[in-house]
Amino acid sequence: MLTVYNTLAREKQVFTPIEPGRVRMYVCGMTVYDLCHIGHARMLGAFDLIYRWLHASGYEVNYVRNITDIDDKIIKRAAESGITPEQLVERTIADMHADLGQLYLLPPTHEPRATQHVGGMIAMIEKLIAKGRAYPAANGDVYYAVREFPGYGKLSGKSLDDLQAGQRVDVDPHKKDPLDFVLWKAAKPGEPHWHSPWGDGRPGWHIECSVMSEHHLGSHFDIHGGGEDLQFPHHENEIAQSEGCHDHTYVNYWMHNGFLQFAGEKMSKSLGNFFAIRDVLKHFDGEAVRFLIVRAHYRSPLNYSEDLLRDAKASLDRLYTVLKKTPASERVAIDWTSDYAKRFKTAMDDDFNTPDAVAVLFEMASEINRNGSKELAGQFKALANILGLLQRDPSDYLQGGPVAEGEITPEQIEAQIVARLEARKAKNFAESDRIRDALLKQGVVLEDGPQGTTWRRQ
Ligand code: ZN
Repeated sequence: MLTVYNTLAREKQVFTPIEPGRVRMYVCGMTVYDLCHIGHARMLGAFDLIYRWLHASGYEVNYVRNITDIDDKIIKRAAESGITPEQLVERTIADMHADLGQLYLLPPTHEPRATQHVGGMIAMIEKLIAKGRAYPAANGDVYYAVREFPGYGKLSGKSLDDLQAGQRVDVDPHKKDPLDFVLWKAAKPGEPHWHSPWGDGRPGWHIECSVMSEHHLGSHFDIHGGGEDLQFPHHENEIAQSEGCHDHTYVNYWMHNGFLQFAGEKMSKSLGNFFAIRDVLKHFDGEAVRFLIVRAHYRSPLNYSEDLLRDAKASLDRLYTVLKKTPASERVAIDWTSDYAKRFKTAMDDDFNTPDAVAVLFEMASEINRNGSKELAGQFKALANILGLLQRDPSDYLQGGPVAEGEITPEQIEAQIVARLEARKAKNFAESDRIRDALLKQGVVLEDGPQGTTWRRQ
């Protein structure tokens, strides 16, 4: 029985989808003005794991993750770069897909873009105005009147009066109440805009998600996710819009992932900007970055540092080394009656407890190391697949990974192995030992076996 922590209820609840066997899930995606950074990887990785486990549990999952392709930051960045917002958006989306693929993130079922749904946003705003929950202002903006929606604050646990007290004094004079938020922004000269009953303009950010989720999932669906920083105001405002428009529940389970924290020392300067996924991948294998995310629970803060990345890489190396020594039998179905699989399932059913699921994998790895069972290795690999791990050829993984500047390349290593073999044939053991030690100093371990010499990076 799957339980999920529902932010709205502030407790774990048994997960029951609206439609048996089907899950409808929406996650707030990227505003595409710059490369995805490691905090995005954490957030999207968390929901990738949730998506994978729902799927492994037998649900047909409709997973929608939007793209915000119109925004002040996009307009500003495009102007600075001397390109159009459309050019910036296309380039950034291509970069995002490439980077997320390197982390083995599955693509969502649908990836709608805000600019494709402006008509739906205008229609929802018109409905909200007709219901007295929104009003056009003299400046061409349209605002949501939060005091006209009785449930405002229920997700974040904030009362209107608390929120009121937190407001700054220099309030927009066009708002009836300082807490009102914008649904439609009047166009400034030179900005992308659409025609509307309130003049030319563009949608506010919050209305995008209410409209795109409804388009693909209906006005009432199962799971809505995002980073914990989106609880307020973004998700609170989505509830106000969607429930304010339809007068029924918008989402049954609200799920939020924890922040990324920088543990220990600052990012190494020698590695430059170590924050964009793309830059991290110059130094670390994408699966090692994924493993760092998988071994933490999605609601906990994720500690991030170069040392922790190295540690994640070393742990993943250990698991791949087991599969190199004991190759998995091919394409096995998971035996859910086995003790390991049962415990893996219990962990994942407990609000997607991936750290406990990973602990089961390590126990399996120890047993495989002891008994060399290819069948158990097959079960191990099949369970790891649910977490998006350990599906590569072990030798390719252990020899691969990004080659940093100045680091020895696979071709150079192979050449040294040949030279060492020649030295041994000539009984020049001093030379063969020298080559082995020289490689070890460069982080390359040689292993002599019945099939000859193989290597892996340390
Ligand atoms: Zn959103």
